Amino acid sequence: MEFLETLYNEIVGFLGISQAWEIIKTGDFSSFRTFDGVKSLIYPIIPLLLLLELILGFIYKKPQTKVYKVNFLIYIFNRFVGRFIAIAMVTLCIGWFQPLAIFQTGPTWYWFIYAYIIWEFGHFIYHYLGHKVRLFWCLHATHHTPEDMNLSVTYAHFFLEAPYADTIRTTVCLLLGVEPAMLFLIMFIDGTYGAFIHVGENMVKDARFGFLNKIMLTPSHHRVHHARNPLYIDTNFCNLLNIWDRVFGTYQEEQPKIKPEYGITRKINSGNFIDVYFGEIIALGKDVISAPGIKNKLSYIFMPPGWSHTGEHKTSKIVRSQYLTSRST
Ligand SMILES: [Zn+2]
Ligand SMILES: [Zn+2]
Repeated sequence: MEFLETLYNEIVGFLGISQAWEIIKTGDFSSFRTFDGVKSLIYPIIPLLLLLELILGFIYKKPQTKVYKVNFLIYIFNRFVGRFIAIAMVTLCIGWFQPLAIFQTGPTWYWFIYAYIIWEFGHFIYHYLGHKVRLFWCLHATHHTPEDMNLSVTYAHFFLEAPYADTIRTTVCLLLGVEPAMLFLIMFIDGTYGAFIHVGENMVKDARFGFLNKIMLTPSHHRVHHARNPLYIDTNFCNLLNIWDRVFGTYQEEQPKIKPEYGITRKINSGNFIDVYFGEIIALGKDVISAPGIKNKLSYIFMPPGWSHTGEHKTSKIVRSQYLTSRST
């Protein structure tokens, strides 16, 4: 019976319905009008959409089961090893960095806009480094291994990625004056929207959402980010506002004629949990061991993925610029 109870709690936990269920049980529906009440209603949206998407996949006979299977294993694995680390890092960062803030913002709408733009800046830094420093790519690559796009990709993360991401994002926000209450609100919005941008083509075929594609980051932009096509690789690092991609020249719209090819450039078995979860770490370890001299070994760790001590670099920057040059000639 204990097993069934654990299973029940895990399912309720995954669906994110426990808080809403508690409110319904008390019979005091006015609680839904509080911030926590609204949150309790928004949390279950992504897991429920995921289930709907899976069902649609079966109806259209394109259920992408390999990706769902591995991402489900990742979810279970992370539940065991990583669940409290990210929360602990945020708490530590607040303790360390809030006293060092250059100024403090208040709880007003204009400071909320400021705070969101700063959060996106922190997100850009973490995400850009996750693609450009091979050590950090090892933490981020698991998220890019799925060769299809659907909402289960939201759960495909190496367990140390969240602490790495949150340390950078919260430190940037705290030092630039964002107060913790505002930070938590933004983290909630960012997490929910950041999950939604993985919606697959079985649910939403054209994810550009009309004029919204011009003013914010849509699932279409994020499909481009997950693609390994030379034009798309290493673009669109933002999450909800794509201001910083435009500032730093990494903005790329989906081209009607170029269908995103999802996945990473290394040949992998995307149905194999070990390859998906540890493959990049193993590949880095092999390169470091076989590289001659300490300088080359360190370069493998800190240079962008694709860097080689032989000089035959295949970094995304080279791949993309070669493509753009060949297209313009
Ligand atoms: Zn990425
Ligand atoms: Zn993603």
